[in-house]
Amino acid sequence: MKRTGAAPAPLEPTLDPPAIETFDEWDLGRPVLDALDTMGIVTPTPIQRLAIGAVLEGRDVIAKAETGTGKTLAFGAPLVSKMDTERKTVLALVLCPTRELAQQVAEELTKCAQNRDLRIALVVGGDPMREQLLELQKGCQILVGTPGRVLDLLTQRYLSFPWVEFVVLDEADKMFEIGFLDDIRKILEATPAERQTLLFSATYVNEVLSLAREATRDPVEIATARGAATVDAIEQLWVPVEARDKVRLLTRLLDASREEDTFLVFCERRTDVDELLREMKRTQHSVTALHGGFDQEVRFRVMGLFRERKIKCLLATGVASRGLDVEHVSHVINFGVPRELEEYTHRIGRTGRAGRAGIAITFVSDEDWRRWRPLLAGANWKITEVAPAALLDDARRRPARDTKPRNDEDSTPRSATGRGQTAARDSLHTRRVSSRRKRSPDGDFGSGL
Ligand code: ADP
Ligand code: MG
Repeated sequence: MKRTGAAPAPLEPTLDPPAIETFDEWDLGRPVLDALDTMGIVTPTPIQRLAIGAVLEGRDVIAKAETGTGKTLAFGAPLVSKMDTERKTVLALVLCPTRELAQQVAEELTKCAQNRDLRIALVVGGDPMREQLLELQKGCQILVGTPGRVLDLLTQRYLSFPWVEFVVLDEADKMFEIGFLDDIRKILEATPAERQTLLFSATYVNEVLSLAREATRDPVEIATARGAATVDAIEQLWVPVEARDKVRLLTRLLDASREEDTFLVFCERRTDVDELLREMKRTQHSVTALHGGFDQEVRFRVMGLFRERKIKCLLATGVASRGLDVEHVSHVINFGVPRELEEYTHRIGRTGRAGRAGIAITFVSDEDWRRWRPLLAGANWKITEVAPAALLDDARRRPARDTKPRNDEDSTPRSATGRGQTAARDSLHTRRVSSRRKRSPDGDFGSGL
């Protein structure tokens, strides 16, 4: 392996996952398919749709996807499927950043391998080495471990990897944070150069990208998460609105939306999500919530429904939205103001994906203003203020399924998304309001309601 001082070439990921609905579409073999079935895993996640085929084909993979998106099975299912059960030596080495993550991965792989005659061993720091050595002596095909402990065992010659065919670097960004990259390099040097190498990570800082480039050959690069670089492709508005009017404004926006519009609404805390859900249940729209307080099963069910567009409006905390397949989100609503600009860009980046039109609207009450002002000042792009009435007026006047231009000036053909939003949204800019607070005495949002 060579190391150069120059910055590594940027990741060139595929963005659109292929339309694969079930795991049977891959040649994973009956034992693995049955195991997935037993695990209750039915629909592959986007990163799985992108990675599994490539791993099965024997390609090196550099994959980027956010936490909780099923990265373990994205490499684990094809890995387990490809193992030669006749051989009783380490064929696959899976490196994880921490003891807990290594344990989780070993468990997931064990479940996935339940119908195959495979042994999976775990070697992590913190536990006495003796027990782990006894496990190793029984012979295992898949070794899961933390780099520190694996390197120890390697230098003390308890372990060697002459037959290793697969190396997985799981959560590579965290391994970098912990300072494991040099250990990993040493471990990689002890494995055959013709191995298949798979990297999975939520982010790729330069150091991790350099390692990825060194460790792989002609890799397939895939990603489902998108950075904040393209915020300017998203129409961004903010609405001054009294806290007690926020629910009504959201309801009206939903009323005025087109059938195919999908809303992702962010709240700051779980309790805010719960409270808003209670309020929104009274409307006729299909509204569901997602937050870290729900167990994994519920989360995945909600995510599945959302992916299948059976949910019009999803309420979520920022963290809970990380694993969402959000390609079709047309509206991101910040029901409250995020704490930091980074969180803001992360949230609004959940719309306008893959060239689709997207709109992000932040609701700003008087109390929110203290937080919103510095964000607004810190953003070096345009976030347009718009009055609630103007926003609704505009949404309402938008034709239901318009693909035709709305007026003579705008006679350019629609983009591939054909949503007919451009004209409608352009007109919003002309209606900017000067005062932050304009409410009519009846407590509604001024005229036009
Ligand atoms: P990541 O490594 O991306 O953070 P994990 O691989 O740990 O995510 O997966 C998180 C959870 O999702 C695990 O409990 C796993 O069993 C579950 N999971 C993975 N893939 C699927 C799927 N296709 N459908 C439902 N659940 C899944
Ligand atoms: Mg993981």
